[in-house]
Amino acid sequence: MSSIHTAHPADLPTTEPLDFLVVAPHPDDAELGMGGTIMKMVEKGMRVGILDLTSGEPTPYGSETIRQRETESATRILNVCWRGNAGLPNRSLEATLENRELLASYFRVLRPRWIFAPYWEDAHPDHLAATQLTEAARFWAKLSKTQMPGERFHPERIYYYYCIHLRLAISPNWIMNISEQWERKLAAIGCYESQFIEGRPSEKPTLMDRFRDDAAYWGKLINRNYGEPFATKEPLALDSLQDLL
Ligand SMILES: [Zn+2]
Repeated sequence: MSSIHTAHPADLPTTEPLDFLVVAPHPDDAELGMGGTIMKMVEKGMRVGILDLTSGEPTPYGSETIRQRETESATRILNVCWRGNAGLPNRSLEATLENRELLASYFRVLRPRWIFAPYWEDAHPDHLAATQLTEAARFWAKLSKTQMPGERFHPERIYYYYCIHLRLAISPNWIMNISEQWERKLAAIGCYESQFIEGRPSEKPTLMDRFRDDAAYWGKLINRNYGEPFATKEPLALDSLQDLL
């Protein structure tokens, strides 16, 4: 049986609230953008979930079955306590009212304190729609007198991870040190063979080499081996300076 939840949020088994939920347009975006941070926070005892909005298919070397198997392998490495797929259509994801309500229903049922969404500037229309949907659903989840399952709920913050298709010179708001998680992050990305290995040029630098170059660049900026960049629209709130590097 698949470990990926595909039931409508109204029919999901009840769970303890999540510390944070990563909303991903396609399976592999969460791993690419913030796989290291996910693992690091799981290791620190946080309850982390991932909601993939679509199957990610069709792609040139994938299929629904292959992609699901790859997602399950990557999820075992990340070791998150919850992962689901909303079953929305790949390549035609849209920020409709219906999809907003569906996503808000997930938020009400999973009750994540924070949400991580794809960065708001991108070339992939699915990614842009995912960001818009997440922002709208965050607001929608707190509405009263609706048919949505669960109680009114408002995730405290939305943060943004980068899994962008544009070659943007980005200016992140913070960088997470993922030096200890890097090799396992790369292994989790490598589970998606149909996306990152099959049919890709084998001469150096390979796509996987590029992922390492990127992570090393972000690590260099914080004087660590590997890093992951993040953005926020609302100011970052700190309770202490002790975690600052
Ligand atoms: Zn994607």
